[in-house]
Amino acid sequence: MKNLLTKIEYFSKTNPYKNAYIVGKNSISYLELWTQASKLSISLSAQGTEPVIIYGHKEVEVVVCILACIISNRTYIPIDISLPLSRLIKIKDVSNASLIINVSNLEVSNIENYSFRELISKNDLSNLKKNSNELVYTIFTSGTTGNPKGVPISKKNLNNFICWINNLKPLNQYQNIVVFNQANFSFDLSVADLYYSLSNGHTLVSLEGYETNLIEVLKVFKEEKIDVAFLTPTFIKLCLLSKDFNESYLNDLKCIYFCGECLDVKTVCKLYKAFPNIEIINAYGPTEATSAISAINITKTMLNETLLPVGDMLTLATEVEIRDSEIVLKGDSVFDGYLGDHIGGFFRENNENCYRTGDLGYIHDGKLYCKGRVDNQIKYKGYRIELADIENNILSIAGVDECVVVPLYNDMGVVKSLKAFVVSSENLTMSKIKQELKKYLPLYMIPSIFKKVDFLPMTVNGKIDRKKLLEVV
Ligand code: AMP
Repeated sequence: MKNLLTKIEYFSKTNPYKNAYIVGKNSISYLELWTQASKLSISLSAQGTEPVIIYGHKEVEVVVCILACIISNRTYIPIDISLPLSRLIKIKDVSNASLIINVSNLEVSNIENYSFRELISKNDLSNLKKNSNELVYTIFTSGTTGNPKGVPISKKNLNNFICWINNLKPLNQYQNIVVFNQANFSFDLSVADLYYSLSNGHTLVSLEGYETNLIEVLKVFKEEKIDVAFLTPTFIKLCLLSKDFNESYLNDLKCIYFCGECLDVKTVCKLYKAFPNIEIINAYGPTEATSAISAINITKTMLNETLLPVGDMLTLATEVEIRDSEIVLKGDSVFDGYLGDHIGGFFRENNENCYRTGDLGYIHDGKLYCKGRVDNQIKYKGYRIELADIENNILSIAGVDECVVVPLYNDMGVVKSLKAFVVSSENLTMSKIKQELKKYLPLYMIPSIFKKVDFLPMTVNGKIDRKKLLEVV
């Protein structure tokens, strides 16, 4: 990560008072960011070599902590405060993290944690530990067992990603711009905006709260003069509901980088109508291959197609193959395997890391397309969810005998809600289950509809017949 650190240190000297990051009324300049992160890194180096959990939301201090972990060579694990405590504890156990930095100063009982202020004021140089750690961060995603699964990303992976995104057109042409961050730091879309912005000396701007307040979103876009936004398609659909989300009101917006879920033609048509001169990038990739591995500029001529491409085969970050209709990734972007003993789609071939994505795809005319999943992983409101994760957490509630969760789709093929079918021989109300589930899962994973059924329909192979369940929806 020497290259990235050298650049940030350089910006802290050449453009010290320029804002590196702004959130709400708070901001931090490149000089302050570098100074605070260097100071905190001394404290982190003295405390151990194990991973560090950064428990917070969008605070300026979260970015300081991330940089401090990189300087001190300690793997960081960003955890958003919207995650229930029980899940945080599971993550701490599986990751072997020895330190939780409680950035938001929330009440965290039962687990030892430190506030940002407490840590940064410690600067004991007597016990610095040398750390040859090769992992930069671990992001946790939904896992089929009901527990989150850890995806560790190495320096090699991240360096490769930064190099790729910094060469991507038109992102490589902008200087001194303002970049918008939508995703919180525990989702890998934020890896793209955070590292693109910091490695180019741009200013990154984020929303203080969660992204559902449209008035707040427009205010930030207008007042901060956002040039490039890193968004999920779900988010842009919300923005497009506002009559002010257009070129004449937001005349600084030049480019939107989308990633994380399917970008549909209808949405792009609306976007081009509101911003005729905008550049639209559709990027694709899983957390396991460092945020994104392909991207393509969506031109107006592509809008006659039913499915938009997700990548230009000439500008890939890593090798892509289609095997049995599935997108398989190989090479420098691909992680070294999950934390713990979960194997999933990871494998090694010819001395290279490889990953079966579970995405159905094809290559046509030099472009990569992604057309759905081979399994029960879904994207809902931009979040990656394993339906089995929800099911296993419902099953862990006393009195639940069987359970299946199905996504309900709108006519565009987008998940509009989740419905749980529950078999229970006890007098358990569905609202009680819903309430209980909040202890284990973040809100976006909790089905909006619960239906008690006497039994779950089966296919001839004895498997749960999800299609049949959808029919009775
Ligand atoms: P995550 O690990 O949260 O980034 O989710 C990765 C998954 O999101 C991929 O395996 C795809 O299923 C989906 N995905 C990411 N980008 C796109 C895209 N541009 N179009 C369609 N699906 C996408």
